[in-house]
Amino acid sequence: MRATIIGAGVAGLACAVELAERGASVQVFERHEGFDKAGCSWFAGGMLAPWCERVSSPPHIVALGDEGFAWWAERYPAMVRRGTLVLAHARDVGELKHFARRTENYAWLDADGIAALEPDLAGRFEHGLFFKDEAHIDPRAALHALAERLRGLGGTIHFSTEAPRDTSGEGQCTIDCTGLAARTVLTDLRGVKGEMLHLQASDLALTRTIRVLHPRTPVYVVPRDNGRYMIGATMIESDQASRISARSMLELLGAAYALHPAFGEAEILEIGTGVRPAFPDNLPRLTRRNGTLYVNGLFRHGFLAAPALARRAAAFVLEGREAPEVMH
Ligand SMILES: Cc1cc2nc3c(=O)[nH]c(=O)nc-3n(C[C@H](O)[C@H](O)[C@H](O)COP(=O)(O)OP(=O)(O)OC[C@H]3O[C@@H](n4cnc5c(N)ncnc54)[C@H](O)[C@@H]3O)c2cc1C
Repeated sequence: MRATIIGAGVAGLACAVELAERGASVQVFERHEGFDKAGCSWFAGGMLAPWCERVSSPPHIVALGDEGFAWWAERYPAMVRRGTLVLAHARDVGELKHFARRTENYAWLDADGIAALEPDLAGRFEHGLFFKDEAHIDPRAALHALAERLRGLGGTIHFSTEAPRDTSGEGQCTIDCTGLAARTVLTDLRGVKGEMLHLQASDLALTRTIRVLHPRTPVYVVPRDNGRYMIGATMIESDQASRISARSMLELLGAAYALHPAFGEAEILEIGTGVRPAFPDNLPRLTRRNGTLYVNGLFRHGFLAAPALARRAAAFVLEGREAPEVMH
């Protein structure tokens, strides 16, 4: 099987790797000159947090995400599986109870439990929820790792190249993973803008994803290497990846500072915005149109769900099963 994948975001690269591992000859076409700022995937937090995401998603997202841990661990061994700590300041403790009611697979922690997990947060929070099975990855490093794995399997990535127009035919398949750009065909796709920051806070040693709940501006902090942190993310109904607003910047920085004052001394390394591709139900879909399989609508679950979606896409194209018009 010769596979053409359009788009080198996490959806495209996961499909490419999965197909190449199963023996397909894979070519990926990406219209930007590299991964850097090419699409939404570059700006992600990299949380693999299906049980936390259950707060606003159906059980299906938990199943998709749970399927992805082993896939990522094998292809990106730097995955960190130290769980997610969900916290709220004393005045927002109702948010924590609400979060607990809508999720599962967590343990309640008191102040000592929080300090045992994250010593730098000692004395700062009275209650928290610990989702021990969750993980995070560095999305940028993960994209590069998938690209390397693909090349090792004989696949090719053509940057600065739109996909060739006609790739259909016997023994060939085309998978479109172009994110929001697929709106011309998938007309109910919309954009949900997300703003994020990278901070350097060398005096702080947080080791896992921390979510801080708030009635208006919940935020999360994902540790990267060497004292760097990703702070995210807003959710704005907009398909414009325009620059961050002053309000969003204030809210993200304010929430980080409230989590720990050391963030007040942090250097701002990067300010970024990405637009998440989402269907009306905010769930990912495989859609077949005119001989092309579309893998899209990954919304805020691209890294979480890409392995499971890639497996399903590969099963369709390699096992010759007839794909339904739309499949979740
Ligand atoms: C701030 C932020 C934080 C997030 N955090 C998380 C998180 O913690 N965990 C998680 O799981 N998800 C997270 N997400 C969501 C995740 O980033 C997205 O779901 C995912 O990146 C979507 O991937 P994609 O491959 O579908 O799209 P994209 O990453 O947008 O990739 C599409 C690619 O197709 C290319 N392309 C478009 N048209 C063409 C064409 N005609 N020819 C060739 N190439 C083309 C584009 O250049 C692009 O590179 C976050 C998103 C944002 C914005």
